[in-house]
Amino acid sequence: MSEVVAPYAARVRGLNKSFGDGASRLHVLKDVDMDVRQGDITMLIGPSGCGKTTLISILAGTLKPDATTQELNVLGQDLQKMTSGSITRFRAQNIGFIFQAFNLIPTLSLAENVSVPLLIRGVRSGVAEKRAREVLALVGLGDRAKSRPNQLSGGQQQRVAIARALVHEPRLIICDEPTAALDAKNGQLVMELFENVARSPERAVLIVTHDNRIFPHANRIASMDDGRIVEVHDIDASHPLPENLRHGFHQ
Ligand code: ADP
Repeated sequence: MSEVVAPYAARVRGLNKSFGDGASRLHVLKDVDMDVRQGDITMLIGPSGCGKTTLISILAGTLKPDATTQELNVLGQDLQKMTSGSITRFRAQNIGFIFQAFNLIPTLSLAENVSVPLLIRGVRSGVAEKRAREVLALVGLGDRAKSRPNQLSGGQQQRVAIARALVHEPRLIICDEPTAALDAKNGQLVMELFENVARSPERAVLIVTHDNRIFPHANRIASMDDGRIVEVHDIDASHPLPENLRHGFHQ
């Protein structure tokens, strides 16, 4: 696939998503406009059920938007014009998606789990495993490469899922509650990894979270309610973190 340099990691206009048909049709995303800028850590917040997971699943190409959607551009590609096969390949190359359920493969070791995105890209298994071990070390699990997922705590499994999402250096990292199961030390470790990713101007991190420990690491906070983006805050020297977010966030 050709490299297209986009000013935005993602640009969405008039995005709609409904589930079901007829009387049971549920209109979940309602004309959403959103930009995810390269070089940013963007946080997406909002009450449970407002559509956050649906939105990031569409950006990651695992869900299709309604046909009424005006624009769905991710890393310079128009996802609406792509076949599901080419979206799957595009995702494997360019997007690290960290699911709320970690989706680790129970029969594989941690190093093998983390190697999967590299093997999909055709990296030889010895090289892939070496790189997987390096990234496991970055998330503090360098000595557990041979363990199986069921030998780990929830927080450790979460760090393996993060290592797997970072291993192929994707240009867009999308995560659903990446620090939910992590203690203060490991939450900090993971956010520093994301900051390193976002330091590169061609890469971006989008995080759905209720964890107010993440707020100080974000450049931009987008707030959703009832299927719409209702507020966007840019965080920089002249726009500090809003008071209500600095002192905790309530659903
Ligand atoms: P959030 O992540 O903000 O909690 P979701 O995107 O998970 O919200 O869900 C938004 C709404 O869409 C909810 O009412 C949820 O029940 C509904 N929904 C999500 N996925 C599906 C699906 N596959 N089929 C039907 N309804 C769904």
